[in-house]
Amino acid sequence: MADNTNEKVLVTETAAEPVIDKHYQLIETKRAAEIIDKAMNLAREEIPKGAVATYIPELGKMDPHQLGICLYPLKGDKICLGDYDTRFTIQSVSKVIMLIVALEVCGLKAVFRKVGMEPSGEAFDSLVELDVSNSKPYNPLINSGALAVCGLLLPEVSFQDMIRYTRNVCSDMDIELNESVFDSEMKTCSRNRSIAYLLESKGIITTDVEDTLRFYTKMCSMNVTAESLANLGKKLANDGVCVVDGKRYMSSRTARIAKTLMLTCGMYDGSGTFAIKVGIPTKSGVGGGLLSVSDKRAGIGVFGPALDAQGNSIAGCKLLREISNKLRLNLFYDPEWDKENADENSDETVLKDMQARSVM
Ligand code: GLN
Repeated sequence: MADNTNEKVLVTETAAEPVIDKHYQLIETKRAAEIIDKAMNLAREEIPKGAVATYIPELGKMDPHQLGICLYPLKGDKICLGDYDTRFTIQSVSKVIMLIVALEVCGLKAVFRKVGMEPSGEAFDSLVELDVSNSKPYNPLINSGALAVCGLLLPEVSFQDMIRYTRNVCSDMDIELNESVFDSEMKTCSRNRSIAYLLESKGIITTDVEDTLRFYTKMCSMNVTAESLANLGKKLANDGVCVVDGKRYMSSRTARIAKTLMLTCGMYDGSGTFAIKVGIPTKSGVGGGLLSVSDKRAGIGVFGPALDAQGNSIAGCKLLREISNKLRLNLFYDPEWDKENADENSDETVLKDMQARSVM
């Protein structure tokens, strides 16, 4: 898949109509698909600047040139391009699922007694802040926080319960444990093991440390696709309710907390930059997956295993940035405001405009 051909493009024709209406709905699937297709080609140019994760040896075998996306609007047809149905391990995207289940099963107070709600500004597998202060892990979307959440979950649910919920919330009954990735990570997870024992020493993990570590690593080793992540994103975008079967998969409050933490902490020490450039709550994983939630509009799943320095999909981030701009999916975008300010994004025009309006 190193070239720019997209044999899996489902829709290619163009249309002159706007792609999003004033109710934030994507209304022009064909046009949107063409925009996404162009964005894919741009995003592919980033791939040589990244690399697949090798600290889990099995992940090092992935083809870095793969790139796929599924964008599933709340109303309208899903758009699937490139390697959207290729299986890869969910890795840290599963931290969102662990958080959802912990909030539902153990409750908000129990969860935030163990972990904070703040971005860490540190690498995903950092131990630094944990040891120098008495603090709990910064948030549930970094390794230390997710391990603490696993300690809460372990007495309540089995891994089988978790995989069943994951299949349902991702509308993908083919999700399985990838045994070789799981074995590979268990052999090389000394950092996570250190974090888990440190958490035990601080009284944050009170379950058996090795069992907790195995549970966490299994959750990271589930095989998903970009399409499964888009299905999960779509339920989060719709307040926890599936548009298709009308079932509620989590409470409103849980959906809101998950989305807020994805926006502030989902991309590790790249979270602030990503929020500025893309403005869509997103959670990454070192398997190359990205789960994005364009609230009230669409769920988006991306797969691109070449990673940047923070461990986020390098082409996936570029792809989301392009799509966010072109399809106006930024959280703070309002179609009504945009009408008068078509050119407002150019740095050169801003100062002149401000002077003309006598605000500067
Ligand atoms: N399983 C991986 C780990 O714990 C997940 C990390 C990630 O996806 N950022 O290191």
